[in-house]
Amino acid sequence: MSASAIVQISYFAAAVLFIVGLKSMSSPVTARRGIIWAGVGMVVATVATFLTPGMGNFALMIAAIAIGGGVAWWSGKIVKMTDMPQMVAIYNGMGGGAAAAIAAVEFVRHEAHGELTIALAVLGALIGAVSFSGSCIAFAKLQGLMKKAYRLPGQNIWNIALAGATLVVGLSMVLLSDKMTGVQILSFFILSLVLGVVITMPIGGADMPVVISLFNAFTGLAVGFEGYVLGNPALIIAGIVVGAAGTLLTQLMAKAMNRPITNIIFQPLSGEAQAGGATVEGSMKEVGALDAAAMMRYGSKVIIVPGYGMAVAGAQHKVWEMAQLLEKAGVEVKFAIHPVAGRMPGHMNVLLAEAGVPYDKIFDLEEINAEFPLADVALVIGANDVVNPSARTDKSSPIYGMPILDADKAQNVIVIKRGKGAGYSGIENALFYAENCRLLYGSAQQVAGEVVGHIKAMGD
Ligand code: NDP
Repeated sequence: MSASAIVQISYFAAAVLFIVGLKSMSSPVTARRGIIWAGVGMVVATVATFLTPGMGNFALMIAAIAIGGGVAWWSGKIVKMTDMPQMVAIYNGMGGGAAAAIAAVEFVRHEAHGELTIALAVLGALIGAVSFSGSCIAFAKLQGLMKKAYRLPGQNIWNIALAGATLVVGLSMVLLSDKMTGVQILSFFILSLVLGVVITMPIGGADMPVVISLFNAFTGLAVGFEGYVLGNPALIIAGIVVGAAGTLLTQLMAKAMNRPITNIIFQPLSGEAQAGGATVEGSMKEVGALDAAAMMRYGSKVIIVPGYGMAVAGAQHKVWEMAQLLEKAGVEVKFAIHPVAGRMPGHMNVLLAEAGVPYDKIFDLEEINAEFPLADVALVIGANDVVNPSARTDKSSPIYGMPILDADKAQNVIVIKRGKGAGYSGIENALFYAENCRLLYGSAQQVAGEVVGHIKAMGD
């Protein structure tokens, strides 16, 4: 068999491994295996590249793999679970940047031939460059390096003008084909990179994970286009898979937040709008760890609603220990997960799985909402926006229309949080002022530990 046939078969095998890997990632039970399958696919594709006839620059390739792989290994080891969104942002940006760089090399060497190929290379370069510079801004915002959302006067006009100018230069490159100039190529990439920055700068932190997911879909598309230009089937398939998965995820997140994607990009929420909504009347009533423990220990059904605060506090192990003690005492315990609880889809599922909570105790919003009125206690741990009843009732609220977990409908609600801090959207939560709600102040891990101690002291 010729070397080229071996390479093509390897690329095909890699593409199959990517698809199998992605499929396995759709369930928490098989997700870890899926990541390994996809990783093996990547190794196969990388090795195949080395075997490609005519390939050179091996020393450079090995150096790049060593540096990139080393940085990825190190950052993957040290990253905190709560910092995962910015890590996804920067890795994804690198993918987009790599796709744009491939196109740049093809243009400079005049190796892309034919209008269709050049058009796809230009599109891939545009999308990849926007994804790269936009993802860098998203990273800076989520990492706290850029604290404000900067909005230009007439922002949307700037967006449209820049996008138009980039497309015109891109079109001229397609028309000139082999005769495109260095100035054209350079101005096209500068315009594309600036476009990514200008689109992303006004978008606030609350919408950023959706934007990252959108850029993820962009990167997939860019990689797919450049795969066509290079005639590389593994890149085409991997790009299409990432593009499709990113698009579905973006839609899912936008739907779960009730924010159309066009709104997120063209009408980003300002700080004021985020803090908007009607003022809430009433007072917050406190409860101690002992009373909270007794309410749950002597109840018959408890639904636990985890949120971002549980992730920050790393309280999942204590929470699961508490749930097991309650079950031992004959209390039915279920976990309710909102699709955008935490800072990434699946954030809570991953944390609970890590703590050992069985999957059959974890329920989605649609599965569990009808059960809240039957629960003696809804225990909200570091969640806020995802249980804010204003989303159902207050038309002036920025989260109006977002589906929420109906924790307020439980007989009693206990909320663990440190103080009067607002949720991600920055708005007041009517639930905390409700008659049936009590606040248990403190950091989630420490408070859950106290509750565990009290339940243990109450005996079986
Ligand atoms: P929120 O961010 O709304 O609220 C978190 C709560 O946790 C705060 O009220 C805070 O109050 C409390 N908290 C913080 N640290 C601790 C701690 N150490 N111990 C105890 N409590 C703590 O979280 P939710 O999970 O309810 O909502 C997620 C938000 O993120 C939504 O607005 C969603 O739209 C947004 N989002 C989510 C995405 C996703 O994919 N998951 C994507 C994009 C946005 P206090 O400071 O008083 O302790």
